[in-house]
Amino acid sequence: MTKYDPASTKAVEFINHEEILETLDYGRANAHNRDLIKSILEKARKAKGLSHREAFVLLSSKEEDLNEEIFNLAKELKHKFYANRIVLFAPLYLSNYCVNGCVYCPYHGQNRTIPRRKLTQEEIKEQVIALQDLGHKRLALEAGEDPINNPIEYILESIKTIYGIKHKNGAIRRVNVNIAATTVENYRKLKEAEIGTYILFQETYNKKQYEELHKFGPKSNYEYHTEAMDRAMEGGIDDVGMGVLYGLDSYEYEFVGQLMHAEHLEARFNVGPHTISVPRIQPADDIDPDDFDNSLSDDMFAKVVACIRIAAPYTGMIVSTRESEAMRDRLLELGISQISGGSKTSVGGYTDDETVGSDQFELSDNRSLDEVVDWLISKNHVPSFCTACYRKGRTGEVFMGMVKEHGIGNICHPNALVTLKEYGVDYASPQTKTDIDKLIERELPNIENEGIRESTRENIKNVEEGIRDLYI
Ligand code: SF4
Ligand code: SF4
Repeated sequence: MTKYDPASTKAVEFINHEEILETLDYGRANAHNRDLIKSILEKARKAKGLSHREAFVLLSSKEEDLNEEIFNLAKELKHKFYANRIVLFAPLYLSNYCVNGCVYCPYHGQNRTIPRRKLTQEEIKEQVIALQDLGHKRLALEAGEDPINNPIEYILESIKTIYGIKHKNGAIRRVNVNIAATTVENYRKLKEAEIGTYILFQETYNKKQYEELHKFGPKSNYEYHTEAMDRAMEGGIDDVGMGVLYGLDSYEYEFVGQLMHAEHLEARFNVGPHTISVPRIQPADDIDPDDFDNSLSDDMFAKVVACIRIAAPYTGMIVSTRESEAMRDRLLELGISQISGGSKTSVGGYTDDETVGSDQFELSDNRSLDEVVDWLISKNHVPSFCTACYRKGRTGEVFMGMVKEHGIGNICHPNALVTLKEYGVDYASPQTKTDIDKLIERELPNIENEGIRESTRENIKNVEEGIRDLYI
């Protein structure tokens, strides 16, 4: 039996199989233990987070009224830490060459039917200009793992290209990077290239299942993959984003594993994950979700999101266009703080219709960015294109310290209004522009600090007069 040690450097000790199984037994045995569930809810109200065991008891609760309290608390915590802003971003697929064998992804090395493509620097410019013209300021770079086609030099050059493109009033101000697990040295290079968050999905925390689903390629090494966030932190990247692909193994196992991973980062580096993503498996070329028998219902998925929000209240949570409009609507209430909008999940997809059929997964939400912005406003959220923290040095421990202490809504909210104003002036359709202006008028008085309220008003005026990139 392997010992459980959250501060260990070994994957099998900090994501400990026996501890997960015991946690699952404990949660299921207490599904009707009202006193215990209530006491955990009481602790959660203090907004300091929960352990994986406590969080799993909430997830397992079969008490209707207490479940209602769980959902309400998730909503409260979301507001407390992040106010009502929702940050928008877009994925940018650089290359779908991949040597790995992930059976749930159409880019796996043995798929001979999918067209392979890697963007040149010139093509990256075209994609980025198209993204800037939509209004995006924040990207998540995606690339398969292929040491010949997508070496680290290619990724670094692409980041430089992206940051260097200034087209009209557009600029990509934050590039987050989702590439395969790599070495400390390469993480250091990514840090020097000024990436925002390094994102790596674990896919599944169940080692046995992981090895079944990844039979070849570098990613088949569970330990190397699971310890990647440690190497990223050692390389100086202090904002890391994690996620599992719900549907590969039981959602219960993944939920507990994910929180243990967050606890491990806290224990070793004093910084939890900057973001947690919650993708669910979707159809794609060569992929049928029915081949995976661990799918979870919409209701349970919503509860997973709510319980992660409660367990890690300081962490940003992301849902992508894999989910439908209706599901995103529901999840936004429960704790999601970032969403993608107007996304294309194929290489070259922002300029090129011919890429249809080469998507990494099918989108359930195909609306344009403008439609998503206007929809968010109609749901009383404040769409945000803010990228301020990274540029103000609010990263890693500094960022987490701030969020844990007071939440960051008092900074997010004004920045959201100013960046939304930029979007309104530069890119929005007439209807959305009108709705943005109404929302800003409605929201400005909600900024509690008078000084910040007045400087935000001033900045909004400055944006109208042509000044860009204002933030606190
Ligand atoms: Fe390659 Fe990533 Fe797809 Fe796996 S999930 S096949 S590593 S692109
Ligand atoms: Fe994100 Fe910081 Fe901007 Fe808030 S202020 S939206 S946390 S970058």
